[in-house]
Amino acid sequence: MKIQLSALKEGMNEITFEHTAETLGIGEEEEFSGIFINAIDVNIDANKIGNQLFLDVVVKTIGNFVCDRCLDDFETEMKERFRLAYSLDNDVNVEKEEDGGIRFLTKDSTVIDITDDIRESLLLVVPMKKLCTEECKGICPQCGVNRNAEECNHTDEKIDPRWEALKKLYNSTDN
Ligand SMILES: [Zn+2]
Ligand SMILES: [Zn+2]
Repeated sequence: MKIQLSALKEGMNEITFEHTAETLGIGEEEEFSGIFINAIDVNIDANKIGNQLFLDVVVKTIGNFVCDRCLDDFETEMKERFRLAYSLDNDVNVEKEEDGGIRFLTKDSTVIDITDDIRESLLLVVPMKKLCTEECKGICPQCGVNRNAEECNHTDEKIDPRWEALKKLYNSTDN
C-alpha cells in the first residue's frame, strides 16, 4: 500500500484501504494458505507535523482456519496495530534504520510504501494453536465423530500407555 506524500495535509489525515492476500503477497506459502480469503482492511491515522509524519495503522481481517482438534473450518477476527514514524525532506534516504526507529526520506521522496509492514503485522497474529473454541472437544479417536456435534459411546478415558505398548506387541506377533 502506497501513500502519496503530496496528498497529505498538515495535521491529521484518515486513510482507509482494502487489501487482499494477492495485493499483499501473502498466502502463497503453504503454512499461510487458505487463511487470508477475506478482505484485509487497513485504517491509517496519518499525522503530519512539519517534516515529521506519524502513522498509526490498524490492520483487520477475518481469518479462515482449520481447527487443530476437530478439523472443522472456523473464522476469527485478526487485528493488529502498529506505528511508524518518518522524517521528511532529508538529504539521505534511510529505510527501516532500526526496529521501531525513524525512517528518513529525502526531499525527492513522493510515496511511502507500507505493504511489507502490513504483511508482517498480519503474519504475527496468525495463531500458533488453531482452535475453533477453547473448549473444542475434538474428534473421537475411536470412531471419528466430531464430538462438538455428536455424542458417541466412547468415554474420554485415556488409554493407559502400557496397554498401547502391549497392543502393539500383540499386533506384531499376531501375523
Ligand atoms: Zn474444533
Ligand atoms: Zn467415539
